[in-house]
Amino acid sequence: MIQKIIFSCLCTMLFTSCLHPNYYENVDGDLTKIATWTIEDGQLGKATILNDQLEKQAVDSIEQIWSKIKAILPQKVVNTYVKEFVLLTDGPSETLAGVAPIDETNQSWDFAVDPQDLPQGDYKKEKDFVHTLIHEFGHIITLNNTQIEPSDLEYQTDENRYLTTEGLAKENSYINLFIKEFWYPNNRLIEWDKMDRVKNQDKKLRKLYSFYQKYETAFLTDYAAESPEEDLAESWYFFVVKDKPTTNFEKDKKILFFYQFKELVLLRKEIRSAIQ
Ligand SMILES: [Zn+2]
Repeated sequence: MIQKIIFSCLCTMLFTSCLHPNYYENVDGDLTKIATWTIEDGQLGKATILNDQLEKQAVDSIEQIWSKIKAILPQKVVNTYVKEFVLLTDGPSETLAGVAPIDETNQSWDFAVDPQDLPQGDYKKEKDFVHTLIHEFGHIITLNNTQIEPSDLEYQTDENRYLTTEGLAKENSYINLFIKEFWYPNNRLIEWDKMDRVKNQDKKLRKLYSFYQKYETAFLTDYAAESPEEDLAESWYFFVVKDKPTTNFEKDKKILFFYQFKELVLLRKEIRSAIQ
């Protein structure tokens, strides 16, 4: 997990659209946690203020911030999985928001935002912010305990089940089906896995960017090429906000992939009406 966190922090150097690393823990000193709140049934509960010198205004208006975020995302899913809200900062830009499972069961998640990057006024009108929220929500619906189970495996060994940072993907989970369709063919997963193991971070980023350029018609954004998990979350975002594609590139098929799941089509509808 550590390697992935470090990479997420560094990838902004190359992947310019990367404002939303999946994991945001403070591994290289850039991120400071300001405060956390427990969440019960979507309502903010007990606060733990970790740094009372920072972002006092955001802490004071936390109810407002949380309700603006909640207004965009489907309540039922948020209420089921999101159990902690976190304010953290790395200064303006870079990390905007992130999600992470609270423990290895993947049953409960925290949702973090950087108050320095929160839009002024109506959140729904800020395209980048809405993109980030929907992308992060995509991680929650594809990596929670109904999708992934804890595993002691350290490397990808089972051809039929993808090993994520969070554990082993269930056979019919969204991510497993997505990878079977788009990452196993042509050994793309093997090609990516090799790059993912490169120890030198600069080299790794260069390789990943070349990977994106090589398969540009397969990825919806450069950030999607970072990993299968990011590819899925980015494809989910475009599934939500775009109309059904009429062209037939691999990146279009990644959007069409989601239409086979009725529950995801319903979530799409819910988000689209929330952001109109
Ligand atoms: Zn992500």
